[in-house]
Amino acid sequence: MSWYQQIVDTSPNPIFVTDRSGRLLLWNQALARLLATDPQEEDVRCTAFIADPGPEAMQALIDQVYEGETMHDVALAFHVQEGQQCHMQARLYPLRDDGEIQGCIVASTDVTVREEARAQLKHLEAFYAQVLQHMPGTLAVLDREGRYLYLNEAAAPDPSLRHWLLGKTPVEHFRRRGLRMSVGWERYNRIQEAIAQQRVIEYREEIPMAHNQIKYIRRIIAPIVAEDGEVHFVISHGRDVTDHTLAERALRASRERISLFVQQAPVAIVEWDLDFRVTAWNPAAERIFGYSRDEALGERGTTLIVPEHVRGEVDEVWQALVHKKGGTRNVNENVRKDGTVITCSWYNTPVVNARGEVIEVVSIVQDITERVHMSQALAQSEERFRKLVQNSSDTITVVDAAGRLRYVSPSVEHVFGYPPDELADEHTAIFIHPDDRKRVYDAFAASLDQPGATHPIDLRVRHADGHWVDVEALATNLLDDASVGGLVINMRDITERKAYERGLVEAKEEAEAMARIKNTIVNNISHEIRTPLTAILGFAEVLREEVPSEHREFARLIHMSGVRLMDTLNSVLDFSRLESGELDLELKPLDLNHIVEEAAALYRSQAERRGLDYEVRLHDDPLTLHLDRGAVLRILGNLISNALKFTDEGGISVEVVMGDDCAGVAVKDTGIGISESFRPHLFEEFQQESEGLARQHGGSGLGLAITSRLVDALDGRIEVESEQGRGSTFTVWFPSERSESSSASDA
Ligand code: ADP
Repeated sequence: MSWYQQIVDTSPNPIFVTDRSGRLLLWNQALARLLATDPQEEDVRCTAFIADPGPEAMQALIDQVYEGETMHDVALAFHVQEGQQCHMQARLYPLRDDGEIQGCIVASTDVTVREEARAQLKHLEAFYAQVLQHMPGTLAVLDREGRYLYLNEAAAPDPSLRHWLLGKTPVEHFRRRGLRMSVGWERYNRIQEAIAQQRVIEYREEIPMAHNQIKYIRRIIAPIVAEDGEVHFVISHGRDVTDHTLAERALRASRERISLFVQQAPVAIVEWDLDFRVTAWNPAAERIFGYSRDEALGERGTTLIVPEHVRGEVDEVWQALVHKKGGTRNVNENVRKDGTVITCSWYNTPVVNARGEVIEVVSIVQDITERVHMSQALAQSEERFRKLVQNSSDTITVVDAAGRLRYVSPSVEHVFGYPPDELADEHTAIFIHPDDRKRVYDAFAASLDQPGATHPIDLRVRHADGHWVDVEALATNLLDDASVGGLVINMRDITERKAYERGLVEAKEEAEAMARIKNTIVNNISHEIRTPLTAILGFAEVLREEVPSEHREFARLIHMSGVRLMDTLNSVLDFSRLESGELDLELKPLDLNHIVEEAAALYRSQAERRGLDYEVRLHDDPLTLHLDRGAVLRILGNLISNALKFTDEGGISVEVVMGDDCAGVAVKDTGIGISESFRPHLFEEFQQESEGLARQHGGSGLGLAITSRLVDALDGRIEVESEQGRGSTFTVWFPSERSESSSASDA
């Protein structure tokens, strides 16, 4: 065996030689080891173990070698043991001997492993390409200059854009897509930074989009450091976190709001762990219980704010909360830090996790101490008013707008005889006297239009036994007041008052009738007295002349007594007329001087006889007033005669006096005067200061009564000044508005 034959034979690569028909001529050990068929057998053709290419293609290759082609590199596949195939890289070339082609040499190298690796790589590549294309978020591979080498679909969904981008930078990318350039530049710079520092950079891009919206991208830039320690590629991965960011912001805002709410809530919000210890304590809790947050945190609820006598009760609530997983609502007493006991309303809720376990308890607490006090006070005042209404002798009813009874106070029983519950929903009409109904309903209608107004009205209400009760009703319209919603009618039994009023009217009528009878009697009797008296006076006069001198004194006394009787009779008659209004005055313009002169003259002789001074002073000018002559003569006569009657020493003066808008006459005496105590009774009829046996002076006691009534009738007034033992002055004043000066009337 030649040395090259040895080399061939020991080569690890299968080598063989075929003739033109593909029959094996020579082969080495490597081929024999590899093949399933034994090449020793006769007429073995290479096409028997070459799986690829097929026999014809293989024959064509051998033909080409025989036809002078020098070398062919081809890929072959051999059938080998156990039905496997082996991939070969083969070179076909001619075996020459003396210029003649003696065979076709096929020298091959087993490339099965390499092929498999390549196939696997291809497969992997396809797999990764798929993964990259479909992975969520954008993925781009850039070279160290920051130019795109690869982009997945998400990074640039449009294939033509994707293609265009290869070899471009993110800055160009942003420009092309019309996005905010600063973001593109930032990405470019971050890529450079990641390359220079050989570290992964993570940051958030904010890309302004249309409609004022912002797209938030979480970007990771990862440099790929090769074995040589250099960065050849950069991976840029972006994930759209807009929803997440917005949700996070909303969550943060809502957390902030909740925290603000808890901080500012007017109610205490307390959180407890399962040991009933405080884990959260808001400012309202600080206010209500007096403990600061720091003082309260970690403390047990029972020892902190629960008074001893309610601890058992609170513990039961706590157990229910922790075990039954339901909320509770309770009101109980609590103690503040300063020891004051307050009443609180509690809403407690166990907080349950996804597995249904209670993890903590939240309580919302309100201090209702004041409210409790107020409602107690309210209840007391309600009770007070209820008692007042129930025990009032007045009957209080509430009537709706349709006139039906909505409420009747209990006193209806003893005032009207009805049990209160029998009256519910009855119409008021059936209780009101038919003659009063219209008036009452008119008033009722009027008060419907006036909320709050009150209208007192008298009416008759039927008693249960049928008689009519006089009632004064006072209605207050409280229809608009939701707590009442009706007309409140207060009724008072006025039977007694009505009876009294009726009595008064009857008494007045009776008195008037009596007065009429009295006048008739007085008039008749005075006529009956006057006629014989006139005869007595006449005959006494005659007797005074006719009888012998020793009897004349009797005749004078008869005459004097007759005159006095006549005076009294006249006084009684005048007074009676004045009382019954029968006196008719005839007002005429008169000179007061004349009347005074005339009246005074009548008494001059009497005064002189009694040795009294008698002075009459008139006004210098005529003084015309509208007066009734008879009345003034009577007034002055009474005053002058009284003055004479009650004066024993000194004298009397009668003087015309002038006032601002009046003129008068003053009758002054130096007589006995009038006591302070008697003065108020001076002008009352039949009043005399000295009465009974003490009486020293004659008179009926009617003179001043008549005088004052006459003065009143003339619109005048009378004044008295007096000092006991020194004398009296009576001044009558007559109004001068009606006066006309005589000079004026003359003109
Ligand atoms: P009589 O007819 O009694 O005088 P009057 O009504 O004239 O009745 O007077 C009532 C009483 O007033 C007299 O009784 C007397 O007590 C007292 N009185 C009246 N005028 C005078 C007077 N000028 N001086 C003192 N007392 C007088």
